[in-house]
Amino acid sequence: MNHDDLRHWSKRAADWAHAYHSTLRDRPVRPRASYGATAAQLPDTPPEAPEPIKDIFADFKTIVPGATTHWQHPRFFAYFPANASPASMLAEQLANAIAAQGMLWQTSPAATEIEQVMIGWLRQALGLAPHFTGTIHDSATTATLSAVLTMRDRATGWDSVTEGLSGGPRLRLYASAQTHSSVDKAARLSGIGQANLVKIPTDAQHAMDPQALDAAIRADLAAGHKPAGVILCTGGTSIGACDPIAACLTVAKTHDLYTHVDAAWAGSAMICPEFRELWQGVDQADSIVFNPHKWLGAQFDCAVQFLADPAPQIRSLGLRPDYLQTLGQDEIVNFNEWTVPLGRRFRALKLWFTLRAYGLEGLRTRIRNHVAWAAELAEDIATIPGIQITTPPALSLFTFRYRDDAATEALLTRINDDGRIYLTQTRHEGRFVIRVQVGQFDCTRDDVMTVAQVLRDLTDGV
Ligand SMILES: *Cc1c(COP(=O)(O)O)cnc(C)c1O
Repeated sequence: MNHDDLRHWSKRAADWAHAYHSTLRDRPVRPRASYGATAAQLPDTPPEAPEPIKDIFADFKTIVPGATTHWQHPRFFAYFPANASPASMLAEQLANAIAAQGMLWQTSPAATEIEQVMIGWLRQALGLAPHFTGTIHDSATTATLSAVLTMRDRATGWDSVTEGLSGGPRLRLYASAQTHSSVDKAARLSGIGQANLVKIPTDAQHAMDPQALDAAIRADLAAGHKPAGVILCTGGTSIGACDPIAACLTVAKTHDLYTHVDAAWAGSAMICPEFRELWQGVDQADSIVFNPHKWLGAQFDCAVQFLADPAPQIRSLGLRPDYLQTLGQDEIVNFNEWTVPLGRRFRALKLWFTLRAYGLEGLRTRIRNHVAWAAELAEDIATIPGIQITTPPALSLFTFRYRDDAATEALLTRINDDGRIYLTQTRHEGRFVIRVQVGQFDCTRDDVMTVAQVLRDLTDGV
């Protein structure tokens, strides 16, 4: 295959993509696949001789779509969305065609500079203070890890950068029990250790109690430990819990701790001013992450980290070996120094295309619709006998259960075998509950209200 073939086949791929997207509603959201069935259709050994792309493309069509969970299906209500606007798909095609590596400014000036401008656009779109700058990571997990590594090194007076952690006091991190597992992972990977991630009790709204945070920090200081940082959440993964950002940041500042706010999912909603009260006070944070790849239409992967001051993170992550020196360009931003990997994809292009193709107003309308439809749906299904709303809508996420744990679990299996919609579960206050999360880019009110229809069909007399 050469570039002439690529031209021909990429047009075929575009036609296939159009047909795929326009027939998604006719497919079950989650495939009826059994484990191992896809692998069994592939040869055990790699080909020695070249094969015609025609055959490869044909196999793709027979093997892949039927064994795919359709994340862009308008009735995907599971996990969080990984929504992808058509404009972002086009940008990804172009980024793929260029296949540039943006580790340094000089390895792709456009990638670095468009990333800088997109960070500025998004800062304004979310209503954040002008001092924030930032970068794009692959995932919120990596952004949170970067912030935790900064907390670690700042707390040791940067000794850990060269000496590691041996011999020093225990470093301590603080987060609420509703915080995403990526924080536990960062505690592990940073060498701080999961046992040193203190989970602060939450109140009746599942938000961190600032007084409990203060007490935990004081207790650790009294025990001779070294508090390193606080991780707060706006829109927790399980049920959408939001910590009181302003009050918790005040406590953290009192103890001179580095702070990170995880708004991976809910951050996108902050393009609408009416939701910003959910993270009121966020301008005082050192680091904030949100994923445009979840709810803003810039397809996976695209996690934006805002930094009040990039210098500490660069001090933790930035290295300049001889072969990465950029002669005479020391003042220039080289984004690899802000992130964990050296290599970087051109992720800013899909933000540029998406923000321009829909405008902030178009994106706000989508998010407002999702929030309004989730509320309408929750109200509707609350009238179905046996259904109980267990947590009310937090933006576009709510949970419900059906009679008891066993009946709820059985209902979830029936729902996902039915295929019209896809829902997933969590555990809340010890009980098995089903999550409903609205946010796919093309979903309509009818798609959302289908959930009520499916529940009526599948609970009737069961
Ligand atoms: C989805 C999510 C994450 C993890 O995001 P990745 O980009 O997949 O690493 C972290 N925190 C919260 C609150 C999330 O919703």
